[in-house]
Amino acid sequence: MSISKTEGIVLRYTNLGEADKILTILTRNNGKIKAIAKGCRKPKSSLLSSSEVFVFSEFILYKGTNFYHISQAVTRETFYNIRKDLLRLSYATYFAELAEAVSDEGIPGERLFLLLAKTLYYLSTEEIPMGILSLGYRLKLMDISGYRPNIVRCAVCRKSSEAYTRFSIDLGGVICSNCSADENGRKTGEVFTISQGTAEAIKFLLNTEISRLNTKKIDNTIFNEIERITRSFIQNHLGKRFKSLDFLDSMKDLNS
Ligand SMILES: [Zn+2]
Repeated sequence: MSISKTEGIVLRYTNLGEADKILTILTRNNGKIKAIAKGCRKPKSSLLSSSEVFVFSEFILYKGTNFYHISQAVTRETFYNIRKDLLRLSYATYFAELAEAVSDEGIPGERLFLLLAKTLYYLSTEEIPMGILSLGYRLKLMDISGYRPNIVRCAVCRKSSEAYTRFSIDLGGVICSNCSADENGRKTGEVFTISQGTAEAIKFLLNTEISRLNTKKIDNTIFNEIERITRSFIQNHLGKRFKSLDFLDSMKDLNS
C-alpha cells in the first residue's frame, strides 16, 4: 500500500453514500487526484473541514484500486471570506474549474498549485480587485499550461517591429500589419483588435507577482479588451466552455 503526504486544495466534490465524499483535489506533488474522504460529512469527523471546497490542507493519502483514500488531513487555510460573498464564491468556482481543466492525474504541477493557492488567498483577503485577479489568474494559468500569449513578436513572421493592433486567437499572439493584410493562405483565424495599452497590460499581468497586481491602474477599455481576448483564447485552446463562467457572468449582471 503506497502512502503519500501532500498539500492540496479541494476543487470540487460529489457526495457518496450516507456520509462520504469523493473529492477532486489539486495536490502540490501528485497533480490532480480523486480521493475518498470517508465519514467526512459527519459533524464530528476529523475530515469535515478539509473536505470542503477550496480548503487548503495537508493530506495523508493511500492509493486504492480506483481512488486515493484520505487517512488524515490537517486544514491549513479555509479561505473563509470566499464563502461569505456569492460573487467571490463564483470567482473561486471558476478558478477551480480552470485549474481542473488544465491539470492531470499523477503529473506534478507545483506552479499551478501555487498559482491557485495564492489566487484564492488574495480573493479571500480582498486586497486585489476580483476582476484584475481573474485576468491575472487566467493569463498565468495559460502560461503555465504552455499557452503563453505572445505579445512581443508577430505570430506569423516572427518579426518584432511595430506597435501591434491585432491579436490572433488561433495563433496565440499578435500579428503585424503585413501579416494581417496577407491573405496567401495563412490562417490567422479569429482576430481581435488590441491597443498598445492592452498589450502592455497583458505583459504586466503575466510578469507581475499576484501580490502586486494592484500596483498598476488598468482602465475599463483595456480591462474589457483583455477580458474578451482571454475568454476567447481559453475557450479556443482548452476546447471547453466553462459553466462556472456563465454563472459568474449572471452574478456580475446582478451586482451591476
Ligand atoms: Zn508578421
